[in-house]
Amino acid sequence: MTNDNRVRKQRNRIVLIHFLSFVLLFIILGFFIFIMINMFFFKDVNKELLAFKAVVNENITETDVDGSLRVSVNPRTNARIFAVFYDGEGNVLDYDPILLDFLGEKGAEDLEPMGLFRFHREFEWNFEIISEEETYHFRTLSFQVDNENAPHVKACKLLIMVNGEMKSRNLVIRVYFLASLLMFIFAFFASLFLSGMSIKPVKAALEKQLSFVSDASHELRTPLAIVRNRLENILTKSNRTVYEVSDDIAVSLKEITRLSKLTNDLLILSRGDSETMQLKIEEFDLLETARTVAIPFSEMAEIQKKKFTVSGENAKVLADKAMMSQLLIILLDNALKYTAEGEEVGIRVRQNGGDVQLEVIDTGTGIPDDVKPHVFERFFRADKARSRDTGGYGLGLAIAKVIAQSHRGSISLTDNHPKGTKITVTFPKTKKLEKK
Ligand code: ADP
Repeated sequence: MTNDNRVRKQRNRIVLIHFLSFVLLFIILGFFIFIMINMFFFKDVNKELLAFKAVVNENITETDVDGSLRVSVNPRTNARIFAVFYDGEGNVLDYDPILLDFLGEKGAEDLEPMGLFRFHREFEWNFEIISEEETYHFRTLSFQVDNENAPHVKACKLLIMVNGEMKSRNLVIRVYFLASLLMFIFAFFASLFLSGMSIKPVKAALEKQLSFVSDASHELRTPLAIVRNRLENILTKSNRTVYEVSDDIAVSLKEITRLSKLTNDLLILSRGDSETMQLKIEEFDLLETARTVAIPFSEMAEIQKKKFTVSGENAKVLADKAMMSQLLIILLDNALKYTAEGEEVGIRVRQNGGDVQLEVIDTGTGIPDDVKPHVFERFFRADKARSRDTGGYGLGLAIAKVIAQSHRGSISLTDNHPKGTKITVTFPKTKKLEKK
């Protein structure tokens, strides 16, 4: 699978996960909104029903009118509420005659199965929908009745018409569904956008890794080819003395030394990437270490007629001494490489609160603005045409960055005034790094 395909597949997966998360969120939200809407719209009718239930329980009476039982509630405090009364078996004893008006032409018996007159034992609260030419919605409350004034009445169901409430509720629900639909569309595009955003650094990292591997292989190939050539040369001249082939041997050894340095550099970078760098943390004075590391460079500077200084304040740090020395070597090596006779190279150690700053300053060629963002990249060399012998692999500053980061620090580059370069490494003085 090509790289792009892999990235696209990953992106599609992220879009799907984002989208499904959005949908799930809306469903959960919708569920809560539905419950809230019901609570909101029927809060008042529920209250009315409960108030009337108390009235029924207190004021219910039954009378015999021409052999049939009539049940009445007096005073009838709520004209919106209608009641149906039952005996112990759930048979209807009496009901508000107005209820029949809602049934249209069908009459009470036809609608019996639909439940207008049926007593609901299991549910106190209920909705009943009576459909005829018009649709009527009732909110109902069923309860047991125990009053000596109406000994035959054992249960009662109250009905209150909620057509208005239902209409408003349904409108709100419809608006919510419409909004959800729009949100789903929005969610899809948002997922597309978000996945694009989140895949970007992954894609960049993958591309970086691939170009790193390809650059590394390229750099490894050259010295290997040289060594192979030279060894073949020796083999074809096997009757010669060691002295006669010493040139081939010397070149091979030099290339092998370069190879071993390159592989060491690659190892540091890869350990930095995987955060498996083994740091040997110890306490030491950074200024003193800088002075020691600087000795061969100051000698070289003297030979090259450059000014070399080490200045600043003593700073006890907890760090890996060998790594810090390597970082200094990289920076000093560059500083000397890019300064000419009569120019200056300096190291400065400073304390800044809990941090310590190590600066390597030179008055050399400086780094052009368009090159600056790339100098910490791996295998970057501003002057690609430089000879292999002086130019290095373009890994120096990348390694310096990895070393700074492994000490929870940072490295930055600024212009030195009036000319040259200043590289500043900042890291915490005493932070415990062993556990990293
Ligand atoms: P190299 O192995 O080429 O020295 P580095 O990673 O150390 O690789 O540096 C990358 C590039 O940054 C160099 O090729 C050089 O162009 C530039 N550079 C680094 N340090 C300095 C400096 N002190 N002055 C000018 N240019 C510098």
